Amino acid sequence: MADGAGMVIIGGGHAGGRAAEAMRQAGYGGAITVIGAEPHVPYERPPLSKELLAADGGPEKTFLHPPDYYRETAIDLRLSTRAAAIDPAARLVRLEDGAALAYDKLMIATGGRVRHLSCPGADLTGVHYIRTIDDSLALRPALHDGARIAVIGGGFIGLEVAASARARGAHVTVVELADQVLARVTDPAVGDLVARLHKRHGVHIMTGASVERINGNGKVAEVVCTDGETIAADAVVVGIGILPNQEIAAEAGLEVADGVVADEYGRTSDPDIFAVGDVADHFNPVLGRRVRLESWANAQNGAIAVARNMVGAPAPYAELPWFWSDQFDLNLQVAGAPDHWDRLVTRGDPDSGTCVIFYMEGDHAVGATAFNQGREMRPCRQLVETAKPVSDADLADEGLRLRDLARG
Ligand SMILES: Cc1cc2nc3c(=O)[nH]c(=O)nc-3n(C[C@H](O)[C@H](O)[C@H](O)COP(=O)(O)OP(=O)(O)OC[C@H]3O[C@@H](n4cnc5c(N)ncnc54)[C@H](O)[C@@H]3O)c2cc1C
Repeated sequence: MADGAGMVIIGGGHAGGRAAEAMRQAGYGGAITVIGAEPHVPYERPPLSKELLAADGGPEKTFLHPPDYYRETAIDLRLSTRAAAIDPAARLVRLEDGAALAYDKLMIATGGRVRHLSCPGADLTGVHYIRTIDDSLALRPALHDGARIAVIGGGFIGLEVAASARARGAHVTVVELADQVLARVTDPAVGDLVARLHKRHGVHIMTGASVERINGNGKVAEVVCTDGETIAADAVVVGIGILPNQEIAAEAGLEVADGVVADEYGRTSDPDIFAVGDVADHFNPVLGRRVRLESWANAQNGAIAVARNMVGAPAPYAELPWFWSDQFDLNLQVAGAPDHWDRLVTRGDPDSGTCVIFYMEGDHAVGATAFNQGREMRPCRQLVETAKPVSDADLADEGLRLRDLARG
């Protein structure tokens, strides 16, 4: 590719870092600049609510590469630097410090920011969110033996924090607005299994509970629910979802919806600007619809696919979504992103801690959640991806191997 200004990536998180690496690996020899608002080199976020909270140790293990890597590969990594605006007509990114950077092609990998609690007391000291290394390291000292931790939000992040806090001996209460944990992303049956696991480990789970305010004299003391119930707390962790950082794209006139709209190549409504990772509302050819995913696999594989498209021959990014979570001794993996299903089929005994729950529609599976069954993920993915007709009885029959059913 003729090189002038080169490739610019806004966002030095997982997707941005992986994309820069993939451009070099694809043989691109021009300039690559990564603009990252955080002070850290690109890193993976899954450990932030797990290992980094539950155990001592520095954040280096989460880095995609050590700092030297970027110098060695001539990737111009600008940390603690924020992009303020994109000027598509002039092909410029304007930085907050007033500088301007020209690009041939631009990637938006700005991820998401946490949704903030808006009730009275939400700004008290001791109210935490978990999105960055710094967030995680700021929370960790509060998770000591005997500490009382209130987790607001029973989604994946909240539940992972709850498990990490219990591992450190803290008393944990999870406050969830919906009738079940994980309500936004899974079937109630899956949420119920996960809630039972937490209860077995001593986590107190309150569902259908809404936070009215947080009381404290400068520092968190208690969480008050709308029904009057009060939870004494030394620290509060809020995990109520993220908002995609799409404003910079919207202000540049790019099409946005739930994120920056992109096609299966990652291309936005401007053919020289691409979007990946948590911020991308991209067309997924396997699902046949647009989707915005918040997962490691999408940040990783989407970034690599789109980076290659930017510097080489375009190929669609077409993968069945995949997500995992670790809580206590549970490794949970999800294949697909079903938005509707008409019934569930359970394979294995949920009480044993090992099973697969299939989300069925008509004669095939549209999703699967595996509990401590990581090795079954491949056939689960195949079954969902190919929409292969399979009977409920066969799926539930542990005498039949999933890989045989997937192959047919
Ligand atoms: C605590 C936690 C645990 C998780 N656990 C799991 C898990 O177990 N399994 C799983 O599949 N997924 C998990 N995820 C999700 C996964 O980590 C994310 O989907 C992934 O990090 C998204 O990568 P990204 O690069 O799109 O966004 P991010 O990693 O958020 O990176 C975006 C970066 O862009 C920067 N930025 C934003 N705007 C600008 C700007 N204007 N200028 C410069 N820089 C900017 C941000 O500061 C940030 O550093 C977890 C996420 C979190 C937060």
